[in-house]
Amino acid sequence: MNILVTGGAGYIGSHACKALAKAGFTPITFDNLSTGWRDAVKFGPFVEGDLTDRASIDRAFEAHDPKAILHFAALSRVDEAMSNPGLYWRNNVLGSLNLIEAATDHNCLDFVFSSTCATYGDQDNVVLDETTAQMPLNAYGASKQAVERILHDFGVTHGLRRVIFRYFNVAGADPEAEVGEFHRPETHLIPIVLDAVAGVRDGVTIYGTDYPTKDGTCIRDYVHVSDLVDAHVLGLRWLLDGKGSRVFNLGTGSGFSVREVIDSARRVTNRDVPTTIGDRRAGDAIKLVSGSKRAEDELQWQPQKSTMPQMIEDAWRWHQVADYRE
Ligand code: UDP
Repeated sequence: MNILVTGGAGYIGSHACKALAKAGFTPITFDNLSTGWRDAVKFGPFVEGDLTDRASIDRAFEAHDPKAILHFAALSRVDEAMSNPGLYWRNNVLGSLNLIEAATDHNCLDFVFSSTCATYGDQDNVVLDETTAQMPLNAYGASKQAVERILHDFGVTHGLRRVIFRYFNVAGADPEAEVGEFHRPETHLIPIVLDAVAGVRDGVTIYGTDYPTKDGTCIRDYVHVSDLVDAHVLGLRWLLDGKGSRVFNLGTGSGFSVREVIDSARRVTNRDVPTTIGDRRAGDAIKLVSGSKRAEDELQWQPQKSTMPQMIEDAWRWHQVADYRE
């Protein structure tokens, strides 16, 4: 069964393609290669196209007749969204709207969407579960929330069935190092720390040490990318089994501060990580930790690899063999 994977050349999408192929599906990667890598498309056909170009989406449907969609393609940098919100609204919202309209026009009505905990915003002393009010702090979170709403509307009018995953922080890499995380520029904490470990950057700037947290740095809930994509295969099966539309947080419920992540990287790699203290980064929430077990209870999702040492170990293995570098 063909599954259209937008963003299949990106970090999470490429891992999802591997998981789909392992589960017996054929992933059709649709990607504009703006932040993804042609070399990451290893598990099925590749269609180069852009979601802001409706005709290129139609060509993918006509050529491959997908039965469902996993929609990862999006811009996802908070710093960029803070300086260029129009880019986020145009790319993430208009691109998704084109995809949703193409899907319903082609009667492809099972849709798995990558959303984010950034849709919750910064809510002190609130347990972040799927019923929490969404109050995004930045255009990235707002664009994802808008797509959730569009999906809902097309559910009502066109019978579109959707599983929405709100990710916390995705980390690690394929334990077999066939695919991994590689962004240019890199903005994510763990790959930046590993660049510092490897000596390809001088050190890590900690963005703010005056937050009201245990050590003054921001807290995030990190999920191993392999566990995260396993949830997507379960979400796809959920839809194909006719279980209907549902929202799931994907996090472990454990929060790690920036300093704790850096300390863990020092221990796992047994190397130094020089740090400097910088200003807060605009748009950052203080603490984002999932307060929900819904994915475990209902999807029978069982994260196996989402411990901090395991995520860093797998990311570090990949970092040393990454084959996407020009
Ligand atoms: N961070 C940092 N230095 C860096 C990159 C990130 O201190 O060079 C912090 C960032 O402010 C946030 C956490 O690490 O508190 C995770 O950031 P990342 O960009 O990895 O993910 P996000 O939470 O923005 O999705």
